[in-house]
This record gives sequence, C-alpha cells and structure tokens, in this order.
Amino acid sequence: TSFAHFNFDEPLMHQIRKSEYTQPTPIQCQGVPIALSGRDMIGIAKTGSGKTAAFIWPMLVHIMDQKELEEGEGPIAVIVCPTRELCQQIHAECKRFGKVYGLRSVAVYGGGSMWEQAKALQEGAEIVVCTPGRLIDHVKKKATSLQRVTYLVFDEADRMFDMGFEYQVRSIASHVRPDRQTLLFSATFRKKIERLARDILMDPIRVVQ
Ligand code: AMP
Repeated sequence: TSFAHFNFDEPLMHQIRKSEYTQPTPIQCQGVPIALSGRDMIGIAKTGSGKTAAFIWPMLVHIMDQKELEEGEGPIAVIVCPTRELCQQIHAECKRFGKVYGLRSVAVYGGGSMWEQAKALQEGAEIVVCTPGRLIDHVKKKATSLQRVTYLVFDEADRMFDMGFEYQVRSIASHVRPDRQTLLFSATFRKKIERLARDILMDPIRVVQ
C-alpha cells in the first residue's frame, strides 16, 4: 500500500510528504481504510508502530465531513490517553496535520493548569487530547461539552487500566453519544481490554500490528 491508496486530499497529502514518510506503516495500511469507512476498530499496536497517525488522519477526514453537518460547541473528536507526555505528543501531531484545515487541538491533562486548560477549551477546538480524569473534571465544571463528539479514541488502553483509569474510561464512553465512531488502541489484548471493547465498541474490526 502507498499513501495514494488512502485517497486523502491534496492539503493532507502535502503535509504527509513534508513529514518525509516514504510509505504507510503496517498499522496504517490496515487501520486507515477501516477508520475511514466509519467502522469501530481495535488496534493492537505499540508505540513506534505509527498508530498515532493511523487514527489522526481518518479523524481529520471525519471532522471535515462532520463540521458541515453539526454546528454547535465542543470538540468533534476526543482522544483519551494515559499520560501527560503522550497527551503532548499526540496533541503535537494533531496540530501538525490539523493545521492544513485550520483545525484546532487542545491538550488537557492532570498536572497542568485547570484554569489555562479551561480557557483554551472555551476558545474552541475541534480536537481535544486528554487524560481521563482531567477531561471529566472539565466536563463537570462545564468548561467543555461532549455533546458534539462523534469520533472517540482510547489510546494505550491497557496502560490506562494499569494506572487505575478503568472507571473514568468507561464514564467518558458512556457520556458520548452512541452513534459515534470509536477506536481502541492497546499494546496487549487482555481479558479486561476485551471486555471493555465488548462494552464500548460496536461490531469492531480488529487489527494487529
Ligand atoms: P507512533 O507509533 O504513532 O508513536 O509513531 C512513532 C513515530 O513514527 C513518530 O515519530 C511518527 O512521526 C513516525 N511515523 C508515523 N508514521 C510514519 C510513516 N508512515 N513512516 C515513517 N515514520 C512514521
């Protein structure tokens, strides 16, 4: 597979070329067409596999389609991950690729300033990258709303479980409309992750790195 198979538009292709990626990674080859088709997906993949771009590129296509249909406030895409570092990395990729469409990303994570994050959320962003507990805090304080979210990603789900975020992960899933698209990434596919997938995904396709 080459990048041309994904049928991305010219602005996005241009940005991918600028990144000097010569070809899609295996998780991108398999995952991107599935995510573009609108199906739910389980990606068994580790850091370094290129999994971030595998959910970000289809996310941008989804947002650009959705933006015309759905007016209103709050993010269209939410990416939930375990740590501040991962949050910042994913946020940087969202900005790098999202800027070609003028899309805005905000990162909210534990340890950062609640006030500054709330301000950034209120200024508006189509994409929110977050750690689970902090997103819930902001929703409770009405700094943002999940009502417009139709693309939901859980990255490194097994690590989130190891860190004790299972309740928060499930809570976020239960507060996003059921007609969303959900993508779940995990390095391992243990029983607990399998159970989560059964509860929060709809008829998912499984992809192994
Ligand atoms: P990830 O697994 O998403 O953390 O990505 C690991 C690294 O691979 C990041 O630095 C990406 O910028 C880079 N990357 C993503 N996709 C590709 C690709 N198709 N070719 C080469 N590098 C890539």
